[in-house]
Amino acid sequence: MAGMMKAFVMRKIGEVGIMEKPIPEAGPNDAIVKTITALVCTSDVHTVRGAMGERTDITLGHEACGIVYKLGSEVIGFKEGDRVVVNAITPCYTCHNCQRGFTSQCTQPLGGWKFANIKDGTMAEYFHVNDATANLTPIPDDVSDEAAVYTTDMMSTGFKGAENADIVLGGTAAVFGLGPVGLMAAVGARLLGAGLVIGVDSILQRMELAKTYGVDEVVDLSKGDPVEAIMKLTHGEGVDSAMEAVGVQASFEGCIKVTRPGGTISNIGYHGEGEYLQIPRMEWGVGMAEKTIKTLLCPGGSERMSRLLRLIQTKRVDPTKLTTHRFKFDEIEKAFRMMDTKDDHIIKPIILFD
Ligand SMILES: [Zn+2]
Ligand SMILES: [Zn+2]
Repeated sequence: MAGMMKAFVMRKIGEVGIMEKPIPEAGPNDAIVKTITALVCTSDVHTVRGAMGERTDITLGHEACGIVYKLGSEVIGFKEGDRVVVNAITPCYTCHNCQRGFTSQCTQPLGGWKFANIKDGTMAEYFHVNDATANLTPIPDDVSDEAAVYTTDMMSTGFKGAENADIVLGGTAAVFGLGPVGLMAAVGARLLGAGLVIGVDSILQRMELAKTYGVDEVVDLSKGDPVEAIMKLTHGEGVDSAMEAVGVQASFEGCIKVTRPGGTISNIGYHGEGEYLQIPRMEWGVGMAEKTIKTLLCPGGSERMSRLLRLIQTKRVDPTKLTTHRFKFDEIEKAFRMMDTKDDHIIKPIILFD
């Protein structure tokens, strides 16, 4: 009989808890990873609220790193005991959508998102990785577990938000929402050469952190209309690139309003509620202002993960500044509750397994 492990699960919509499960087994192309470090994500909160539909006893989590515990016979390039990180998104790299280059849409819309969606996630003592040759990434010795685990979603998603925003060298960029992904989008915009990065939020701790991450101008939306503030900061022109990192109507339409004709709106936010999003007709140039709206789901795979790890190695970014709280695995429910309520100005809670 297989050994047992503890897992943090969504029992049903609105209900979570720790339960015992068998340690997962590896098929020929799979790996089993023993978890060292994990992060709780606001997406986990959305999932438990029912944004993806009903789930029964599914293990939560998609941001983790650990040690290779078991390898399938066909997995190439790794051995048991290797320290590895796994992106939140684990595509197959063979289906039609993957071959078309849309690996996060593996097989079906959002189909690369397998953890805590179509199979058990990573908030357990062990987790299963499909198509492990492409989805395991070795962690360089000079990168800590805590830094590495930020590549799984916050860095990959935030940076893709900036890449999708068609950042103009020396141009202007705005980020609505300075949560962990929005902050990484701002860092990405700087790394890609934006000449002015404007951030929008209302929480003091996030706005202060944004400045340490190189955001040039922070707009406090509790003090007035952020659209007006951004138009003023850009002398009435608007920005070349606007990134939406909240997932609500107000910031989505704010992005469209502040984008210059010919500019790009990059949606990063998870729009977890409502049937429709509305586009402001006039600021969209009644459909003719050549404003492009792009969307994304965290890109995965070891090629991208290696590049993100390199940015940590060469000190282009220190994602660990996002960690505001630390918990042991048996305190994970508290971490999850805090991520739901955003108590104590939590930005990112890290979970340490022993
Ligand atoms: Zn996440
Ligand atoms: Zn695929």
